[in-house]
Amino acid sequence: MAKLSGDRRAEAEALNQTAWFCLQLGLPGRGYDMAMAAKRAWVQLKEIRGQAVAGSILSWLLIEMGLVDEAFIEAAQCLELAERQADRTVLAFARNAKAVTYLYCRQDHLALPLLQEALGTLNADEAPSLKSLFLTNIAYSQVSLAESAERDGDMRKGHDLRVRAIDTNNQAIAVASACGDFWNLRTALCNSAEYYACLGELALAEQCLDRWEEVPGDIGLRSEIHYLYTRGELLTKAGHLQEAVAVCQQAVALSENHKQADHKANSNRRLAEALEGLGDYRAALLYYKRYHDAFEAQMGETTRRRAQHVESLLENERLRVEANALRLQAEHDALTGLMNRRSFEAAMQALGHTRFCLAIVDLDHFKLVNDTYSHIVGDAVLKRTADILASFHTLKAYRLGGEEFALLFVDQSLATAADEAENVRSRIAKFNWSSVVAGLSVTASIGLASSQTTPLSKIMEVADRQLYRAKASGRDMVMSA
Ligand code: GH3
Ligand code: MG
Ligand code: MG
Repeated sequence: MAKLSGDRRAEAEALNQTAWFCLQLGLPGRGYDMAMAAKRAWVQLKEIRGQAVAGSILSWLLIEMGLVDEAFIEAAQCLELAERQADRTVLAFARNAKAVTYLYCRQDHLALPLLQEALGTLNADEAPSLKSLFLTNIAYSQVSLAESAERDGDMRKGHDLRVRAIDTNNQAIAVASACGDFWNLRTALCNSAEYYACLGELALAEQCLDRWEEVPGDIGLRSEIHYLYTRGELLTKAGHLQEAVAVCQQAVALSENHKQADHKANSNRRLAEALEGLGDYRAALLYYKRYHDAFEAQMGETTRRRAQHVESLLENERLRVEANALRLQAEHDALTGLMNRRSFEAAMQALGHTRFCLAIVDLDHFKLVNDTYSHIVGDAVLKRTADILASFHTLKAYRLGGEEFALLFVDQSLATAADEAENVRSRIAKFNWSSVVAGLSVTASIGLASSQTTPLSKIMEVADRQLYRAKASGRDMVMSA
């Protein structure tokens, strides 16, 4: 709809939204295309805020695709963009995106403070949906820190962190539930179930999953698979192995329909564990093998996606270079490289109430140069003249067309501009034109007007009249109004 309406902003906004929904539904491939298209659109619209949002979603999608290094680079760029604009929600979102990449690089000690900063960026009643998301991620990073403490043998610290994680995650559940964000609510409930299960609190873990079942709204496939294998893991831990097998089989069946290899790996592993518990080692071995295959497939998929991503980045770069070239073409004159009439008009518009002087430079008897020496020599004279004009740093030079140029002297009095215009005239007259073709000499006439004595709408006309006066008075001179 947005596309049909021709509203580029609305289209870019819709692309951001769709990318975000794809992320939530576990469709990172589709989401990736949307986020990339959104980014391109925002770059064209020159809107930093939109770029920061699209990039934050993109970095997250890259993680889902297993491209953690690429996600890291994307998130770092986004955070830089987000810090350059005023929207605090966007800044918080970008901080969260960067923190998520830290989480996946196992840099939990960097992730946790950044997530807390993201949370602190939002005001009390602002963006509850994001708040619950940040809290979920904070809890996740606390669990990661607990795991590493336990690996180092510090069981006490590990336990404390796990208890804190559950507390944080329960806050996430409360916020998501209050604001009706069912996607966050489901994720947080599944996570709480896992966290409780790790502490041996199986009954509390089950309560979380029971609550999950009561959450209304559409369940994404990803969310459902997550629920099923978490439920299966709980049942295995509680010793209800037959039931665990049945639930894990459902998860495995669903993950077959899903492109994401990580669901397949997770589901098959839980099923293998349940079968192992039952003593069915032959079947367990089969599913461990499938888990292994899915894991390998995930690696293969990651490599393929990495190649695709590199290609997309190259395509973006190509489009950027092309857009720059077009912009240069639109603003500059092809023969001399000076800015063109369109740029001149834009510059005049932008001057507004600023004090400035305008000079019109017109080569004398230029038709004769063409007629005597050919158009090729005529072109060479125009290029040399442009070089001379561009060498003055006190003015901005434009080619208006033919052998006519405009000079803008910004914030200069008529007296100073007149002196400099005289320097321009003299430099043209004294140039060694024989270096272009033997016997050639070139002069120019210049008409000058000041915004201090002439209204903006008349300044061109007045400068032109002075030019005409210079021509009529014998050429090769400057006349000022
Ligand atoms: P004046 O001193 O009164 O300005 O005389 P003039 O001959 O310079 O003025 P006129 O306007 O009669 O001629 C301008 C010429 O500039 C005519 C046209 O062929 C030539 N011209 C315009 N654009 C170009 C260009 O891009 N290259 C070349 N070589 N000639 C051009
Ligand atoms: Mg002319
Ligand atoms: Mg002329």
